[in-house]
Amino acid sequence: MAFSENVLVLRTGRFKEYDVWVRFLSPSRGILSGFAFGGCRSRRRFCGCLDSLNLVRFTVSGHSLRKKYLTLEEGTLICGFNGLKKRADKLGMAVNCLRFVQQICLEGDDSAAIYQLTLASLQTLDENLHVPAFFPLLFKAKAAFIHGYEPTLNICARCACPLEQMSRPFFLFASGHVICSSCIHKDDRTLQTGRKSLLFLDRLRVCGPEKWVNWDPEQEILQDCFRIVDSYVQYHLE
Ligand SMILES: [Zn+2]
Repeated sequence: MAFSENVLVLRTGRFKEYDVWVRFLSPSRGILSGFAFGGCRSRRRFCGCLDSLNLVRFTVSGHSLRKKYLTLEEGTLICGFNGLKKRADKLGMAVNCLRFVQQICLEGDDSAAIYQLTLASLQTLDENLHVPAFFPLLFKAKAAFIHGYEPTLNICARCACPLEQMSRPFFLFASGHVICSSCIHKDDRTLQTGRKSLLFLDRLRVCGPEKWVNWDPEQEILQDCFRIVDSYVQYHLE
């Protein structure tokens, strides 16, 4: 598998004296790891690009039968997101988002959607002076939706009653469906959530991170988002 691609560097580490180990998100191959041999010394092949939170064009060779790892032949820095790296609060949010990507995305996954979301989120953090503290929470909700199931939030999955008419909607976190209180079975694994929270999440499904910086959701909605993301992660990943 040899390829050249723009990727997001998630983590790096020193290996032996001059080599660098790199974990990155590819838009087409999920999360991969590779070695940049001589990466600490070679300014010609890896000029300033071997750091986390960089968008880099890597030329990659390897995965032969004998070699279980990828070899990074060279890299060119496309964007270093210096605006976000200069501010501790925004850097913390970016690191938080990247950790979640590493939790949900695996090698070989179809990662086009999660890559686009992550890139757009880093650009938003980089370009906006003020980013609300709930930004990583919305990122996690959207990432879980586009990488896991595409939830259907605006209608009861069993009787097709519209969300607007439900007095007590429930979220089925195993399948990503919403059901009304009359359709609930006793062995369903559900979370009771506010209707406004589900409408908010439905809007999140279709809006990108550049829009989130102007949103001002109520505390109750954010708490519901947190519970939904948390139960999704626990159910599907732990
Ligand atoms: Zn129903």
